Amino acid sequence: MNIVQYPDPRLRKKNAPVTDFGPELEATAREMFEVMYATQGVGLAAPQVGLNIQLLVYNPTGSSEEKAEEKVLCNPKMVFKSREKEDGQEGCLSFPDVNGVVNRPIKVKVEALDLKGEKFELELEDWDARIFQHELDHLDGILFIDRMTPATKSQAKPVLEDLVHAYKESLAGS
Ligand code: ZN
Repeated sequence: MNIVQYPDPRLRKKNAPVTDFGPELEATAREMFEVMYATQGVGLAAPQVGLNIQLLVYNPTGSSEEKAEEKVLCNPKMVFKSREKEDGQEGCLSFPDVNGVVNRPIKVKVEALDLKGEKFELELEDWDARIFQHELDHLDGILFIDRMTPATKSQAKPVLEDLVHAYKESLAGS
């Protein structure tokens, strides 16, 4: 399992709902956590490892020691978002060396299925809400550069151009 980097088209593809809740799905989620910890991330969505399904994992502590903080969401839906928003710095494992300010609702309410296909709800705020919204966007083919404030997006532009160039090179070389 490898991280898919911008501008790989798999990051923009439609993601199918999860329908198969067997041990294979559990193993996929486990492997996503391992990739996430190994790359110092706090969240990872399935399309970021080339799987176009509606699965995301996150751990707001970013620490593999804190297993109790791990969250796995299948087919997540945001059923509420606060009108109050705030700016915050974000990075993304699919965008090495890119950081930017994104404005997002502070509180959200989420419905999702767990690894057994059982429905559950979460109320999230602040950092947890931000991570979740970033990962949920991935499941809709939306990337954080789409939501960055214009000032940070223009700062990120040279790095984005480098990533596009590197991607083209990798295609030419394969
Ligand atoms: Zn991301």
